[in-house]
Amino acid sequence: MPTYKAPVNDYKFLMHNVFNLQQYNNYQSFKEATPDLIDAILEEAAKLTENIFQPINQSGGEEGCSLENGIVSTPKGFKEAYDQFREGGWQSLTGDPEYGGQGLPLSLGVALNEMMISSNWGLAMYPGLTKGASETIHAWGTDDQKGTYLPNMISGDWAGTMNLTEPHCGTDLGLLRTKADLNDDGSYSISGTKIFISAGDHELTENIIHLVLARISGAPDGMDGISLFIVPKFIVKDDGSLGDRNGVSCGSLEEKMGIHSNATCLLNYDNATGYLLGPENKGMRAMFTMMNEARLGVAMQGLAIAEVAQQNAADYARERIQGRALTGAKFPDDAADPIIVHPDVRRMLMTNRAFSEGSRAMALWAALQIDISHGDPEEDARVKAKDMLALLTPVLKSYMTDQGVEAASRAMQCLGGHGYICEWGMEQFLRDARIAPIYEGTNGIQALDLVGRKLPRKNGEVIRAFFKVIQNFIDDNKETEGLEKYCSLLEKALGRQQAATMWLMQNALENPDHAGGTAHYYLNLMALVAMGYSWANMALTAKTMIAAGEGDQAFLQNKLKTADFFFTHLLPETTALRIKVEAGSDDVMSLDAQYF
Ligand SMILES: Cc1cc2nc3c(=O)[nH]c(=O)nc-3n(C[C@H](O)[C@H](O)[C@H](O)COP(=O)(O)OP(=O)(O)OC[C@H]3O[C@@H](n4cnc5c(N)ncnc54)[C@H](O)[C@@H]3O)c2cc1C
Repeated sequence: MPTYKAPVNDYKFLMHNVFNLQQYNNYQSFKEATPDLIDAILEEAAKLTENIFQPINQSGGEEGCSLENGIVSTPKGFKEAYDQFREGGWQSLTGDPEYGGQGLPLSLGVALNEMMISSNWGLAMYPGLTKGASETIHAWGTDDQKGTYLPNMISGDWAGTMNLTEPHCGTDLGLLRTKADLNDDGSYSISGTKIFISAGDHELTENIIHLVLARISGAPDGMDGISLFIVPKFIVKDDGSLGDRNGVSCGSLEEKMGIHSNATCLLNYDNATGYLLGPENKGMRAMFTMMNEARLGVAMQGLAIAEVAQQNAADYARERIQGRALTGAKFPDDAADPIIVHPDVRRMLMTNRAFSEGSRAMALWAALQIDISHGDPEEDARVKAKDMLALLTPVLKSYMTDQGVEAASRAMQCLGGHGYICEWGMEQFLRDARIAPIYEGTNGIQALDLVGRKLPRKNGEVIRAFFKVIQNFIDDNKETEGLEKYCSLLEKALGRQQAATMWLMQNALENPDHAGGTAHYYLNLMALVAMGYSWANMALTAKTMIAAGEGDQAFLQNKLKTADFFFTHLLPETTALRIKVEAGSDDVMSLDAQYF
């Protein structure tokens, strides 16, 4: 059976040493987040996820959800685990104090999120969806709507969902058909079918607040005619108590590849009562407000699965004995050496480790942009942080989820045939991982978003700001002892990204297929540069602490060794990626469709 140990020390290193979160204690959300409180939360989150979530992950995946007589049930133990999560106040960690939240920094929420997904992805999705839905209501709701729904959602007593997809439309939501008819009392009657709705129905909470995209009768076709509605499973009465069951029901549960313990529902809306959320026909804008934070949550799924798969692969590689080390037996008294002596097994483990630790730093950097954009007293700083987050979001969502799948696959490879056998849990990790590049906007769409919308944003000002952050770091540290090689390699990678950006600017306007055909490569090139910056930043901190004799010296030395691996084995991929961008799309598009 697989095991899980939450990366508490890595988070402490990042939060206290690399990013020095204390520097933000003039922000409301950081005021109470003292180092002691941060440590206590990380340690308690580790206990929750290691002891409550993880033990029912494998059994939950095997059992899956069920639908009987119209009632959806989650696997054995999920309700009890969810109750512990809710009673522990975890759902409210980063929620607005005005509605019962604890108002703590979102960067702390990111750490909790990673641990929950690593330990039990299917279970973690129920509160994850609630968070997305409650934040959307927070951003767009009237005072009345916020007062009605937020306290119970922030406490975790009620859950939430996001309903976009329909049978004939996923990426192209302009085609959606779910309709909304205005009632005399100002509410709407919602009718239509939504598919693939995560956490769409369950018994974990007494009510579920669905956020549903629909077209008001008479509204324009396409994206400009879509509105967003609050559709509660049970109507909430004026006194806040629950009334009648609304006209929304689960028609079926999807049979799927992974995350079996999360109920992926087909939801039928049959004249369900809905309440307009945000302005009429601006539903896509309301949804997109929340996208950056939701997509960062999905990016964390890639990291989370890589982390837990890696931990189990490393444990196995230390135990499993096969063959002898190429340089001579390491354990001559045993029948064979453990497979961790083999460089090819090391290559897989080091790749996963460099990805996980680099991604964690990169994701925390992005999450901090959310905290800055909400909390900084200076408007200029808030705007810049928001822009940086918007730029980084598609990069992290796509790169981290693609690499999450690769990391889970590499981890499985370390176990040989046993990795393919269910008992060891690696195949569950790989199956679970595969959804993340698909939902919350496919990774292909993330790449188009980066190249088509984010690069030209504000006439290129935002991408130039990204270049500047990295160039400033290089200029400040290229002569710092021990940092020279990292800075020099990072500068070359940055130069490749700048050249690829220039190529796109010069060629994509004249032929948009050049943007579409190379966006995936450009995104990965940028992700490696961002991760290179994150690794260089960690290396700088580790070197400084080692020189001062502070911290756990073995932990810090290991950071530097993993940084070395990243710079020599992963960052060089930027060379090939630049070449692929500059090759354009001619060869991608040359074959006639019938010959595929
Ligand atoms: C397990 C699971 C859970 C889900 N949870 C939810 C949920 O909670 N709520 C919800 O609303 N939806 C949910 N979804 C739906 C998910 O978000 C969609 O499946 C996804 O957005 C893709 O839509 P699609 O499946 O219709 O694929 P399509 O849109 O048909 O896309 C097929 C392929 O074509 C590509 N493509 C499409 N258009 C373009 C374009 N313009 N340019 C380039 N490439 C393009 C896509 O990238 C993809 O590779 C879930 C899906 C699954 C499987």
